[in-house]
Amino acid sequence: MLINLSDVFRTRDKIEVVEIACEMTEFQNGVQTYRIVSKELSPFTFTNVEIDKAKINGEIDFIFQALCDRCAEEIPVNIKVNVERFVLSPRITTEDDQMESPFMDGYQIDMEALIFHEILENWPMKILCKEDCKGVCPVCGQNLNVRECGCDRFIPDPRMMAIADILERNKEV
Ligand SMILES: [Zn+2]
Ligand SMILES: [Zn+2]
Repeated sequence: MLINLSDVFRTRDKIEVVEIACEMTEFQNGVQTYRIVSKELSPFTFTNVEIDKAKINGEIDFIFQALCDRCAEEIPVNIKVNVERFVLSPRITTEDDQMESPFMDGYQIDMEALIFHEILENWPMKILCKEDCKGVCPVCGQNLNVRECGCDRFIPDPRMMAIADILERNKEV
């Protein structure tokens, strides 16, 4: 969905409120693809701050289907963002401004690109089903949140092994 901001850029105190249609069904963050389970978008407001400068306001509330990073359990990820951004008209934009607002195309704003950008910036570093998720057993693959499998998961630290070797050798001498 493209919205032309020419009027907002050029008219002092101009405010435009637009209902947003978003066709996105999934989100790709470059690593994985997440299906969108639900999406809510408030109408967006485009306000003239000064000539050639506009403010964008709106709210996005998305739920994605994701997997826990540790145990691979399917969990919803909620991204809720209160959008507030300033954009400049192409009459005064520099290359840096363009980098910062990749969703601007001349006088037009690509709303899907903006929404993508907001989600990407707010995407969690880690997705966990719960803070203390125990993950899966590296030996048998059992989800350790469900039950303890009893496998011997002791993986010796290689540095400790080296010390143990020296001690062992000294004993022999
Ligand atoms: Zn988990
Ligand atoms: Zn196990």
